[in-house]
This record gives sequence, C-alpha cells and structure tokens, in this order.
Amino acid sequence: MAHVAYEPVIGLEAHCRLLTDSKAFSSDSARFGAGPNAHVDPVSLGHPGTLPVLNQRMVEYTLRMGLATQCRIAPRSVLARKHYFYPDLPKGYQISQYETPICAGGHVDIAVRDRENPEAAPAAKRIGLTRIHMEEDAGRSIHDQDPCDTLLDYNRCGTPLIEIVSEPDLRSPREAYAYMRKIRQIVRYLGISDGNMEEGSLRCDANVSIRPAGSEAFFERTEIKNMNSFRNVERAIEYEISRQIRIVRSGGKVVRQTLLWDAERQETRPMRSKEEAHDYRYFPDPDLPPVFVAEEELDRLRGELPEMPDARRARFVRAWGLPAYDAAILTEERDLADYFEETVRALGPEGGGKGTPGLEADGGAGSSAEGGEKAAHGPVKRVSNMIMGDVLRVLKETGMGIGALPVRPPRLAALARLRLEDRISSTAAQEIFEAMLEREEGPEAIAKERDLMQVSDAGSLAPLVESVLDDHPQQVAAYLGGKESLVGYFIGQAMRRFEGAADPRLVRALLVERLEARRK
Ligand code: ADP
Ligand code: MG
Repeated sequence: MAHVAYEPVIGLEAHCRLLTDSKAFSSDSARFGAGPNAHVDPVSLGHPGTLPVLNQRMVEYTLRMGLATQCRIAPRSVLARKHYFYPDLPKGYQISQYETPICAGGHVDIAVRDRENPEAAPAAKRIGLTRIHMEEDAGRSIHDQDPCDTLLDYNRCGTPLIEIVSEPDLRSPREAYAYMRKIRQIVRYLGISDGNMEEGSLRCDANVSIRPAGSEAFFERTEIKNMNSFRNVERAIEYEISRQIRIVRSGGKVVRQTLLWDAERQETRPMRSKEEAHDYRYFPDPDLPPVFVAEEELDRLRGELPEMPDARRARFVRAWGLPAYDAAILTEERDLADYFEETVRALGPEGGGKGTPGLEADGGAGSSAEGGEKAAHGPVKRVSNMIMGDVLRVLKETGMGIGALPVRPPRLAALARLRLEDRISSTAAQEIFEAMLEREEGPEAIAKERDLMQVSDAGSLAPLVESVLDDHPQQVAAYLGGKESLVGYFIGQAMRRFEGAADPRLVRALLVERLEARRK
C-alpha cells in the first residue's frame, strides 16, 4: 500500500493576561505575586447581590491589540456568561464574549526561522485571526502543596484576559512556535501584557488535526492544554501530530478530545472529551450593558499606537543601513530598540554620519540608500555590534533588563566614539565596558587610568617605526624588491613594541610611508 503523506493543520487559542491595576469587573488589585487570597472581594468571589463593573482600561488594552493586528472593531459588543462548575470558579460562570467579540478578522505576520539553519533568511507567513475577545480569568487550584487537600487561591479570579483565536492557518509546530513568539512581542510592544508564558500571563491551547498532503478538507481535531513554555508548545504539537499519524496509519480514527501536555514525560494524555458550545449555556450577562466603541476613541487609540516591531525592523534596515539580522535582534524588544537608537543619536552628527537618519526614515530615497551603504561599515554598525555583543551578553548573564543596565546610551556612545577614532583597541573597549558596569566614570577617564589609550599621534610613533625597519634590513630589502605582503610582518613587530597601545591604521600608514622613503 502506498504511504500517504500527512500535513498538520493547527489553530491556536492564546490567552493573555492584561497589565491593568484592577480586575476586569471589580476594584481588587490585579497584580501578580501577592500572598494567597490577598486580592479578593465579594465581586470576584461572585457573592449574591454584587454587581460587576467593566474596567475601562481592559477595553482600551484589548482595542490596542485589535488595532495593532488590523482587526475589525465591533462598535457594539456583548459580554456573555459561560457556565461551568469548577472549584476555582466560585461564581459558577465566567464572564466572556461569545457571539459578538470586540475584535475580529485581523492577522499576525510571522517569520519562521529554520532551527537547523538559523542564519538563513526566515520564511514569512500571514496567519489569520478569527477573533480577539475579553474575558475574566478563574482562580487557581493547587494540587501539590498539601498531602490531602487541593488548595484554592482566588487572587486570579476576575483578572482581565484577552483570548486571541487564530484561523487554522498554521502548518507546522515551528510556525506555531513563531506565532506565539510574535504574539508575545506584540503585547510587549503595546505594553498591555508581559507575555510571560512561564508565569502563566500568556497561555495557549493548540488545536491539531492532520490531513493527506494536498487535501483542502479539515479533519477531526484534538485540543492540547497546559503548555507553559514556547518550546513546549512546539514539542506538544510535534508529539500530537505523530500520535495522530500513528492512529490513522493503523486504521484508527482521531477522536475529538481535550489533552493535557505532560512536560515531564513529554507526551499528551487525555483530560476530557471535548465539550460543545451548547454545554456552556452562554447568554448575555444581564448585569453588564453592551460595550460601545466610538469612532473618535478608536482614532485616538490608533494615534497612540507605538511603531510596531515589523515596521521598526524594516526602518532599521532602510534608515540605519543595518543588516536584516541585526535589525531583527535589535527590535526584538521595544526597550532594546530604544536603547540602540538613543545610543546612535548620542553619537551625534560626527558619529552617526548625517545627524539622525532614522528620524527621517521616509526622506530622500537616494541619500538614504547611500547612507545605508556607508552605515553598514560605520558608526551605526559599530553600535549595533556593541549591543549585540557585550550588552546582550551581560543582560543574559545577569538576567537584567536593558532598563536596569548601568551603562546608559550616552556612555555607550562615548565608548563607541573612542573605538571609532581608534583611540582604544577592541580588547580595551571590552575591558572598559566591563569597568563601566561597576563605575560611573566615562570611558575616557577609565581608559586613561588604566593606560588603555592608544598612541595616535604620528610624532611619537615615527621613531619607533623607524627602529623596527632598522632592525630588519633583510625584510626591508625583500619588501622593496616587490614582496609587499611583508607590511603585515612589520605591523606585527611594531605593535609588539607598542604593546598594542598604538592605532594600527596609523602604524600601517607610517610604515608604508617610511618604506617608500627608503626606495630613494
Ligand atoms: P471551539 O469552540 O471548540 O474552541 P473554535 O471554532 O473556536 O472551536 O476553534 C478553536 C480553534 O480551533 C481555532 O483556533 C481554529 O483555528 C482551530 N481549528 C478549527 N478547525 C480545526 C482543524 N480541523 N484542525 C486544527 N485546528 C482547527
Ligand atoms: Mg475555544
């Protein structure tokens, strides 16, 4: 029998906790990390006689997400009750949106990097969004802290979430990974969530089915829950795809069900048979009026959106002349991109070439292409290298955010300038950077104190260059006889005598000049 090839079909439902001060429908604090049951009041516990009031900030944050992903915004949407029983849901229902989500029909563009070949240009793909709606979170049942009982923490009850439902457009576990990373990047750029999967502020359910490659039909799917890292999203889907292929190949049928990902054993296991929408007895919440969104409010929010990561990355290439790879890394986080641009601006006109070309990104096309050419080897690239090298390394080693780095843009720019003017060597630059993490002085003061400034005036270099030539008459003769590659040898000798503390370009220029002088 011919072996049928299968292709996976994946749709993701992502839940994202919004960074509001108070809860979705009550005034309790929505902050994460307080002691158990420190943030509960009668509304979040669903006591009879209490009334929910919609948090305006929650609506605004949801709209930011909808606008940033090109969704249609519903001028009127409804909050609905979704009923189910669970100990961490004391009201017996969750307030969500059902028939009329506040946002629908947008998209997210992903760039899928090949794990085997990470340097290659990533593949671009557009993933459709079915909807984005608002809902409240449930509390937390803790099963592993008491030998007999399940403990309940209601702090999370009523904290605001958005649910982002994708179209079944994803075709590989890798794309699902890239999609979740992109969702995280977008919510962080927008400042509406920290997008932290490990702490549960970003969660995801993956719907997975398989079909014969080339088929347009959709087949029965399963839903995987409980993946608490980006890597686990990818792994769980990989596992589930092979499980389904095994079932189908052995003549079985995939059954619609909800599965749990067991990260320890790296496998999925059944949790429950899938419930249908009618099981939830959805109906509009009679305690809450519809949500109206005025056109003027949308205009205001649109105007307040930050430059989004894709646009910013493209501008970094176009206006600063950076390689696409650098631009992608520097724009990964909004704070890092700001840090980079502040450093380049702090370099000033003599450093940054012609002022701040990034700000006139859409200005004269000709001049910007030319600027890009130069920038690729110039000051901007130098700043990029420093950030991608020393800065990111320190952030990774210390777990510090860029905002907490003691070396602020002006001092990094001063360091970059010393390097650009060849007044310090690259190893010295590294040493000075490390020192600046501990101290407040500028790089020049540190360089002088540690004797790291390179000798860069011709007057004091010339005698030494002459002495190198005097000491190697045979090599000089060979050079003059046509073996010009020997210039590298002389540079090596000279740099050794200076113990590295000389500007190598100046040394080379002087050497060539003195060698030529010896022809006569
Ligand atoms: P439910 O109400 O059961 O959660 P939805 O229609 O809301 O179902 O779809 C949930 C998710 O399932 C969406 O992200 C959607 O893209 C995805 N999905 C729908 N059909 C399939 C399929 N055949 N294979 C994989 N994913 C699917
Ligand atoms: Mg669903």
